[in-house]
Amino acid sequence: MFNALKPQSQDKILALMGMFRADPRPEKVDLGVGVYKDADGRTPVMRAIKAAEKQLWEAETTKTYTALAGEPAFHAAMAGLVLGADYPKDRLSALQTVGGTGAVRMAFELARIANPDCTVWASDPTWPNHLSILDFMHMPRKSYRYFDAETRAVDFDAMMADLAALKAGDVVLLHGCCHNPTGANLTIEQWAAVADLLEQTGAIPMVDIAYQGFGDGLEADAAGTRLIASRLPEVMIAASCSKNFGIYRERTGCLMVLSDAAAKETTQGTLAYLNRQTYSFAPDHGARLVTMVLSDPTLRAEWEAELEAVRNGMLGLREQLAAELRQLSNSDRFDFLARHRGMFSRLGATAEQVETMRAENGIYMVSDSRFNVAGLNEKSVPVLARAIIAAGV
Ligand code: PMP
Repeated sequence: MFNALKPQSQDKILALMGMFRADPRPEKVDLGVGVYKDADGRTPVMRAIKAAEKQLWEAETTKTYTALAGEPAFHAAMAGLVLGADYPKDRLSALQTVGGTGAVRMAFELARIANPDCTVWASDPTWPNHLSILDFMHMPRKSYRYFDAETRAVDFDAMMADLAALKAGDVVLLHGCCHNPTGANLTIEQWAAVADLLEQTGAIPMVDIAYQGFGDGLEADAAGTRLIASRLPEVMIAASCSKNFGIYRERTGCLMVLSDAAAKETTQGTLAYLNRQTYSFAPDHGARLVTMVLSDPTLRAEWEAELEAVRNGMLGLREQLAAELRQLSNSDRFDFLARHRGMFSRLGATAEQVETMRAENGIYMVSDSRFNVAGLNEKSVPVLARAIIAAGV
C-alpha cells in the first residue's frame, strides 16, 4: 500500500535550513528559519523559563493526566495575556494545543464543524502553513490582497475591497501582530475599520497571534486582537507560546473562542472533543511553565524584561539596517525596514536577487525575500546591506 504514496513537496524553509548547514563558508548568515537568535546566534532558554523549570522539578509530584482541554489556570493566564485582565469570562472557551500550529488547526476544525460551508480568507501573502493546512483539510479558501510590493506597507484599500465579498459565516484570518512573512501591520484605525466590515458582513475573525511582545510591546501587540474581541460577538484566537516564551520544542499554544454566553458550554465541549479525537491531551510541560511565569510576579517581571530586551534588540537591528541602506543607496527607499515590526520583513527582492545574495555572499533568506531580522547582528548588518545593493534590489 505504501508504494502508492506520492512524495510531498518539501517545506521550503526547512529545505533552506539544510542548504545553510551544508554551506562551508564561515561568514554565511542564516536569515531563513523563524527562530529568535541573539547576537551570538544562540536561541537561549529564557531566564524565567529556566527558573520555572527548576521550581517545577522540585514541586511536581505526579505526571498523571491533566484536563482534556488543558488546565483552566493556563486558559486564564493566556486569556489575560492576549485579551487583557477584563476579558469576558462568560463568553470564553479555550483549548490547550500542540503549539500555535495546533491552535490554528483546531480553529479551522471548529469552524468547519460549526459551518461546513465556511470559506477561510487569508492575506496574500500569509504564513504558508495556513494555506497548506487548509488545502490538506480540503477547506475552501480565498485570499485578500494585503501587501503593497511598491511601498512594502499594507495595501489597506485593496484589502478592504477584497473583503467586501465576505459572506456571513466565512472566516477571516488576521495576523494579530508582526505579520509573517511581510512585517507590515495594520494600524489601530485599520483594525477598527476591519471590525466594522466584519460586523456588517457577519464573517468571523480568526486572529493568529504568534509574536506578541516582538513588535511594539506586549500590550501594544495585542491591541488589534483586543479591539476585535471587544467589538465582535464571535471570535477565534490562535496564540503561540513558542516565540515569546522561547519554548519552541515544548509545543505550547492556546485556542481561545469567544461565543454567545449561551453557546459557551457546547463550544468548550467541542474544543475538548477536538483534542480527544486528535491526540487526547496536549503536552503539559510548556503550558505549565507559561502558567507559572504569567502567574508569579517575580517570574513575570523577569520574563517581561528579557522579552523587552529581545524586542529592542530586533528594533535596533532594523534601525541599523535601514540607516546603512539609506547611506549606500543614497535614498530612503529602504526605510520601510525600520517601520516593519516583528522578526520578519519582506525585502521585495526577486527570487534571482535572493539567489545572488546566497551564492555571492552566503546570505540565506526565503525565496520570496522574507528574512529573519534576529538572524543578524551588528557585524552582519553592513554585510547584508552591501549584498542588497550589489544584487540590485
Ligand atoms: N502562526 C504564525 C503566523 C507563525 O509564524 C507560526 C510560527 N512559525 C505559528 C503560527 C505557529 O508556531 P508554533 O506551532 O511553533 O507555535
